[in-house]
Amino acid sequence: MPLYSHSRLGTYENCPFQYKLRYVDRVKPALGNSIESFMGRMVHDALEWLYKLARDSNVVSKDSLLNKYDQLWIDNWQDDIRVVKKDLTAENFKQTGSNCLEMYYERYHPFDQAITIGLEERMMIDLPEDKKMQGYIDRLDKLGDGHLAVHDYKTSNRVPPQAKADQDRQLGLYALAVHQRYPEVEKIDLVWHYVRFDEEIRSSRTQAQLDKMVDSTVSLIKNVEAATERRDFPTKISILCDWCEYKPQCPEFSHQFASKSDMPTLDTANMTAAQAAETVDKLVELKDKKKSMSADMDAMISTLENKLIDYSKESGHRSVFGSDYKASFRESDGIKIPDRKDLRRYELESTLREMKLWDDLQEMSAYRLKSKLKSGDWSSEQKTAILKYMDTDSSTSVSLKKL
Ligand code: SF4
Repeated sequence: MPLYSHSRLGTYENCPFQYKLRYVDRVKPALGNSIESFMGRMVHDALEWLYKLARDSNVVSKDSLLNKYDQLWIDNWQDDIRVVKKDLTAENFKQTGSNCLEMYYERYHPFDQAITIGLEERMMIDLPEDKKMQGYIDRLDKLGDGHLAVHDYKTSNRVPPQAKADQDRQLGLYALAVHQRYPEVEKIDLVWHYVRFDEEIRSSRTQAQLDKMVDSTVSLIKNVEAATERRDFPTKISILCDWCEYKPQCPEFSHQFASKSDMPTLDTANMTAAQAAETVDKLVELKDKKKSMSADMDAMISTLENKLIDYSKESGHRSVFGSDYKASFRESDGIKIPDRKDLRRYELESTLREMKLWDDLQEMSAYRLKSKLKSGDWSSEQKTAILKYMDTDSSTSVSLKKL
């Protein structure tokens, strides 16, 4: 029976295909970690170190904390860590992490707000229908008898609204895990530390909220299991793809990586990946050419039509004969309803209503207005009053007919 976690379920929700690679096929990602997740991990590790020592009465200085963070960064750095965001460097992220820790230190020093009873604490969660989950609580504190607090550090660059925190699944699951491990506990605070913003968000869960979350989580797990049974893991393209470590292994993006290599990607392929990339460029070029040629042709057709219309008007010939086709001309009077920003549109509608003609139309339609104005249903006074608010234009169209 697989052991689920909030992040495992989150991966499925974000992209079932990524879920398949990571959790079902257990494929090693082709790309390295993102700098965001590396920085987050280093900040977490530094805070874990800080609280581990503080718990044993060794409250380190702010400089020691920042030095520890620098050392963790150096020791864990890997050259394939990726900086996705343009205009930012790894050094920028390192500095951001350091700033987060500095703000955190200043806010909570000397870290004696509660008794730390767990750091990176592994928690098991039993769900109905034999489903099981696990999670790691960043910090579990005791505030008093029967009163605990679950702390979670976030290095993300956005603080969610309170309503979102009140429905957050991750900390909701941790609250459930604490309830299951310590049934005597009466109060559990859920605390997020958005360390980039020196911001705390707090929440809690009622039994009814926990029950609702359990239902939706079990139902999600069942969906994941059904998809696994069917091996149905579609790709889901989103903004998150830029950070996906499986991009070269994903059919949506694999060509982008293959085209950078000279190696044929398939024995039977009739072109290499690089040739396929060139073919895309050629296709775009041709389509662009076609678009601009078609615009040129439209302009030429319109010039010829206007010439024929002028000739017909001057000569009085209502049709002009070519070798196999004749061109005929039809004049039509058009009316134009003023657009919504134009005050005349409202005046037109009130005039129609005042004259009790609106019911004949039901809506502001040029077609209906035109046919009513042509019909004998409305008096000439009514027509004149209405036309006052409308633009009129006449146009001539050209039709070709085979002889
Ligand atoms: S690149 Fe996007 S679509 Fe492909 S696996 Fe990753 S998240 Fe899914």
